[in-house]
Amino acid sequence: MGLKVVVDFDLCEANARCMEVCPEVFKVDDDDFLHILIEEGPQLEPLREKLREAERVCPRQAITIVES
Ligand code: SF4
Repeated sequence: MGLKVVVDFDLCEANARCMEVCPEVFKVDDDDFLHILIEEGPQLEPLREKLREAERVCPRQAITIVES
């Protein structure tokens, strides 16, 4: 079991709500482009709650946290 972060970049409007909740994974740069710093792997496990929160607060519902 692992986690994977999936973002629909067609929906994302780079408002950085996800970065406020989980800056370990989401970074909006100076050009208003969202980067996923950790896409999958064991480093995501301790961030599970924050990732779920980011998924919840995204106003565009662009984030999906997949259990694989
Ligand atoms: S909260 Fe959603 S819309 Fe905002 S930057 Fe993150 S993924 Fe994009």
